[in-house]
Amino acid sequence: MKRMGQYSTVRLSSYTAFLVFVLAGVCTPQDVNDRVPDGLVNGMSGVELSRRIFEAERDMMHRIRIYSPIVETYVQSLWPDTTAQMLLDDVYFLGKVDFLRRLVSGDYATTLLSGTSKNSRQILNDNGQKWELDPDGFVSMLFIDQRDFDTDTYHLRYLKSETLGTVSCLVFGVTAVKANAPGRFDGTVWVENSGLRIVRVKGIFQANHVRLRQRLSPLGASVALPLHFDCWREMIAPDLWAPAYLTIDDNVGWKAIGGDGVTDFHYRGRTFVWGYSHIGSFQNQRLAPSATSDSGPDVIGLEKDGLLAPFGTVERSLNAIIQRLAAGSHVDLPKVTCRILVTTPVELFHVGNTIVVSRGFLEMVPDESTLAVFLAHELAHVAVETAVGKEVDHERSLFDYSPPGEFLGLGIRHSTEEEEGKASALTCGILNDSAYTSASGRAAGFVEQLTTMSRQLPNLTRARFGVGLVENGRSVHELPSCGSSGQSVPPVPQLQLRGRYLVGVSTDELRLAR
Ligand SMILES: [Zn+2]
Repeated sequence: MKRMGQYSTVRLSSYTAFLVFVLAGVCTPQDVNDRVPDGLVNGMSGVELSRRIFEAERDMMHRIRIYSPIVETYVQSLWPDTTAQMLLDDVYFLGKVDFLRRLVSGDYATTLLSGTSKNSRQILNDNGQKWELDPDGFVSMLFIDQRDFDTDTYHLRYLKSETLGTVSCLVFGVTAVKANAPGRFDGTVWVENSGLRIVRVKGIFQANHVRLRQRLSPLGASVALPLHFDCWREMIAPDLWAPAYLTIDDNVGWKAIGGDGVTDFHYRGRTFVWGYSHIGSFQNQRLAPSATSDSGPDVIGLEKDGLLAPFGTVERSLNAIIQRLAAGSHVDLPKVTCRILVTTPVELFHVGNTIVVSRGFLEMVPDESTLAVFLAHELAHVAVETAVGKEVDHERSLFDYSPPGEFLGLGIRHSTEEEEGKASALTCGILNDSAYTSASGRAAGFVEQLTTMSRQLPNLTRARFGVGLVENGRSVHELPSCGSSGQSVPPVPQLQLRGRYLVGVSTDELRLAR
């Protein structure tokens, strides 16, 4: 297995060397500056075009300062050989960033709910060591350069025209005037034709920008390794394109002091940014939540914080499944509503008559029938018990608590053994009258796979607000096998976060990705 890692290292190193050779041989910084041709936009000169792009970006940084969005990062560490996709570990950060403090004072300006402790930031690599990922690094990747994106610091080089979705763009290479300047951006930007606003940023910060830290000695010396990222923006106000999400899939070469070879570390992850309706510092100035009156304070509090999506099309489709289950059932069932936590960790629980599922759960669940089994089971729980959270003051934002250490959730009570037994029996009662009976085995297979994954991916499987499907390596629920015995159950495909959903940056609404 070690040989595989070494092979990909060699491949990466020679590729890097090739790139360096090409850049050194062809482009001096002066050449790069001259590469923006005249007349790309309405007869504008290349110099003028560059100037306007820098200006538009600074304008964006200025206008975006009134927002305090939520930033969520989920990263997996994998075996370096990309074909094997072997998972090693994961980390999860969830916080709210005050852009005003960050962009004006240069403060960290983030209140974290997840990822506060040093321990929670560590990720296992294939050399058996744990390294610390810095949540702040992922916020830095939302901007090209928080202070100096201007003609004195960067060169633009025109590459091509390209359409992103429906937006016509000019694509430019960006390099720092000063070679090897730590923290400077190096990569590509997509600039929309009409307002010359940057809509996508892809590249890497030059080394020494804090991304991922490895402690080298007991004396405390540590190094930072940057990661390649690809950040997409969305328009949140006229001509204001704000960072919406970014993806990371990178191999980082690492040579330990005194080590005899370079090891590759493979990281894959996503950062979502939403909640641009939260204006100002940590104030909760949002429109009134859409939560229905029977949802209770927990649900309303989550929605006010931008953590629960407002009721939309995806919720409607979940409710339709519930209605189909209830319509065919001979059992008298309570009326429930489904709502979605915008976050990635797999969660499924109920508060009063509201069933809450997380976006991560919806990403992972393989099909509607399997989803229906979980909803039927949760519906059964609602029918046989009342779950309550601990007393939380929902007048204040969850982000205002700033507790020392990790946020420990809403304190939703777990079902007792007796309740679980009743819910389990009722689940079959509901499913047997529906078109989803045969899927009960698949739901059990899903949980089984999730339980196995929870060893490598504890952060994906651990609930942050309510209750997950797996806890301490065991299934939370007793999922019965319903329908006629001996029915063959098709195997559950390998579980993965499929990236099927995007979060509306201003509306917090969940929608299917195109
Ligand atoms: Zn259960």
